[in-house]
Amino acid sequence: MFDTATTEKFHSLKTPFYYYDLELLKRTLDEVKTHGIDKGYHVHYAIKANYNFEILELIKQAGLGIDCVSGPEIFRSLEAGFKGSEIAFAGVGKTDEEIQVGLDSDIFSFNCESLQELEVLNELAEKANKTASVSIRLNPNVEAKTHKYITTGLNENKFGITIDKLPQLFEMVPDLASIKLTGIHFHIGSQITELQPFIDLCEKVELVQHKFEQAGFSLQHVNVGGGYGINYETPDKEPIPDFKSFFEVFDKHLNLRDGQQLHFELGRSIVGQCGSLISRVLYIKEGINTNFAVLDAGMTELIRPALYQAAHRVDPLTSRKPEKTYDVVGPICESSDSFRKGIQLPELKRGDLVAIRSAGAYGEVMSSGFNLRERVKAYYSDRL
Ligand SMILES: *Cc1c(COP(=O)(O)O)cnc(C)c1O
Repeated sequence: MFDTATTEKFHSLKTPFYYYDLELLKRTLDEVKTHGIDKGYHVHYAIKANYNFEILELIKQAGLGIDCVSGPEIFRSLEAGFKGSEIAFAGVGKTDEEIQVGLDSDIFSFNCESLQELEVLNELAEKANKTASVSIRLNPNVEAKTHKYITTGLNENKFGITIDKLPQLFEMVPDLASIKLTGIHFHIGSQITELQPFIDLCEKVELVQHKFEQAGFSLQHVNVGGGYGINYETPDKEPIPDFKSFFEVFDKHLNLRDGQQLHFELGRSIVGQCGSLISRVLYIKEGINTNFAVLDAGMTELIRPALYQAAHRVDPLTSRKPEKTYDVVGPICESSDSFRKGIQLPELKRGDLVAIRSAGAYGEVMSSGFNLRERVKAYYSDRL
């Protein structure tokens, strides 16, 4: 997991902190490049997963574009050196101000999520004397088989335009002179570890493409979003997601038209495994059925367990015997502030360090100041 020198260094740092293994990130990006980019696919990194500049730099060097869901994310991407022409911009609630940012930056695509948004975008583009490139985000009603809070492609979810609205859309578009309809966009959810939902998505894409063609529209690109999952249970067994199988699904099951580009928006699968949250055991407390290991990190540094019932692997950086049963909890005044319940770990003592693994995506970016806690530092493997 970590070499001795790294672990020793950890002991001298103030905890908790995030630690990013940039070598692993590079190797992950190499796989995305080999199986995706080199095959001619366009991969946008979903910047909301982690927007640290050190990480963005490697992602940029690997040739990925960016997927944004807010105006500030567009600014951040530009600041990190990405071009407007590499940015896709999704979100159900883009403000006029945010749309303006996208127009000013001549972004690759506004992924529009409602008919009303299309009208507003057209108006703002006309005022700015620009033509906005638009992808229609469609809700394909595909079951992603993931936690309900991170399912996005079902009729009950707020995202995208449902397929039954297409006739209305086809009628509207010719009158919207300041937008150019260039593609269709989908994103069915997150932490999807089975390939079947993506195969189902390919079928829906074909159906939708057909409807656009029948209405006389040709599409320059298809964007199938992201959502590919990672192995939280045993990250060392699968430090890099199987990108070969992932991209092959689309190669096999998606029928692209001549000259059509295929775009992806991957977040978690790129940065999830390279990050850990390093924390110190503050107290050990005997409970009735378990022992509580109280850490100095909590839901303020990693909210995924509290929010999505996510189980991150907890690896002690000491190895004592025998093993004992622990609830690993944070210090926050909130019962959901618990990382794991009833797990077997080598005996823990006050002052021991533990690594909460797979925290690179939706960890640091979702941190909060609840209980007036300070934001914690990030360290990187190449400059520890
Ligand atoms: C969050 C998001 C993604 C990335 O999702 P991951 O599960 O991290 O791959 C891609 N596209 C859109 C529109 C998103 O909102």
